[in-house]
Amino acid sequence: MTIQNMQMPDHLWRPITQHSTLSGITPPRMVKGEGVWLTDDKGNRFIDSLAGLWTVNVGYGRKEIAAVAAEQMEQLAYLAPMMTSDPVVDFAEKLQTMLGFEAHVYFSVSGSEANETAIKMARQYHLQNGKQGENRFKIISRYRGYHGNTLGAMTATGQAERKMGYEPGAPGFVHVMPPYPYRRHEKLTVEEHGAEMLTLLEETIIHEGAQTVAAVLMEPMITGGGVLVPPDNYVKGVREICDRYGVLLIFDEVVSGFGRLGQMFGHRIWGTEADIFTFAKGLASGYMPIAATVAKKHIFDGFLGEPGEMKHFRQVNTFGGHTVACAVGLKNVQIIEDEDLPANGQRMGDYFRSRIREELGDHPLVGEVRGMGLLTGIEMVSDRSAKTPLSEDRLNVLTRTAIANGIILGRNSNTIPGRCNVLLIAPPLVVNEEETDRIVAAIKAGVEAC
Ligand code: PMP
Repeated sequence: MTIQNMQMPDHLWRPITQHSTLSGITPPRMVKGEGVWLTDDKGNRFIDSLAGLWTVNVGYGRKEIAAVAAEQMEQLAYLAPMMTSDPVVDFAEKLQTMLGFEAHVYFSVSGSEANETAIKMARQYHLQNGKQGENRFKIISRYRGYHGNTLGAMTATGQAERKMGYEPGAPGFVHVMPPYPYRRHEKLTVEEHGAEMLTLLEETIIHEGAQTVAAVLMEPMITGGGVLVPPDNYVKGVREICDRYGVLLIFDEVVSGFGRLGQMFGHRIWGTEADIFTFAKGLASGYMPIAATVAKKHIFDGFLGEPGEMKHFRQVNTFGGHTVACAVGLKNVQIIEDEDLPANGQRMGDYFRSRIREELGDHPLVGEVRGMGLLTGIEMVSDRSAKTPLSEDRLNVLTRTAIANGIILGRNSNTIPGRCNVLLIAPPLVVNEEETDRIVAAIKAGVEAC
């Protein structure tokens, strides 16, 4: 059979999927979600140890959210984003109260859009408020960071496997190495490694010409790119460097916002604030698609002007600030607060990591177990001393074995030979010990099978 003659299961074009592997297969269709559990059309149940794409923080099947959505949809399903309604204003107020500093919230629909928005805000802000002779447009981001699939956010992304075939990207982007403590130079302590990466960032700004650099865009901790926990001195150090050179700092909290890392917001872990923040996944836990770009007051003020001055932010998103999504988001963040889900995530994440270390800490294929809150990465290697990444084929066996054991397991997929092959575990923040034990058992079975 030629590839062209292969029988596809349906007409759905799935993301990051080689459809030839689906030939002759009928993929299970999920029909229900409850807590951390998904059920398929044959009645098989799986624990989703990835919470969708680390999105469903409050867990599946929340009837109270569905009720809010239904009510809002009947009342007023959609409103042009320039107009004002209660859910949108209330949600913006709630977010700024939760963040604890004065800010304005610009809503869009996806993490990619939220980052595009942040990049555009940073550029326009400098254009309107910069010093004479400056031309700040460059965005510095980091290798292994992920920021989205649209042209600007994709260009900012530092993962070659996400860009192959789609380049050249947008102009004006520069990448630097992030701290990667597991693969640091053996003579350096973790803190020294953090300092080394800070020096690299500072040197990059100097060599690019600080007067051309608009912003540093980074996840406080690189998540999907391999769960790279930064040294304690790093995030604060980035803030200091940005301040020294008049560069704005944008935190992509698309993953780390709303409890994933054990605190409500990722930046609080490192005691450092950005000028602009982006949020998406946990913002409505996937019950509706919504994202937010939150700009602190000094950024917002930089867009104030007389009517004819054209200083306002000139972007519009048809579905940004969707009334139903905002009503749902509001309910979602109330649940996260009321049930103190970041704390449960921290407890369960600590429990998970200690159980995995007990069961697999000495296994020859396990390079490192690391993470924060309820986001854990297990770096898989075929040789512990050389730190050789485990091959794609063996990782496939591992994740397939986990699925056969009822656990949907994540991993960062490298379509080019990876430097960093990492299992990703981030269940909904409502997970309990018994469910965590099941995840541990399935990972153990998978590691032993590959
Ligand atoms: N930033 C980060 C850190 C992400 O993990 C993602 C999504 N994986 C995005 C941005 C892009 O979000 P979206 O897929 O909603 O466009």
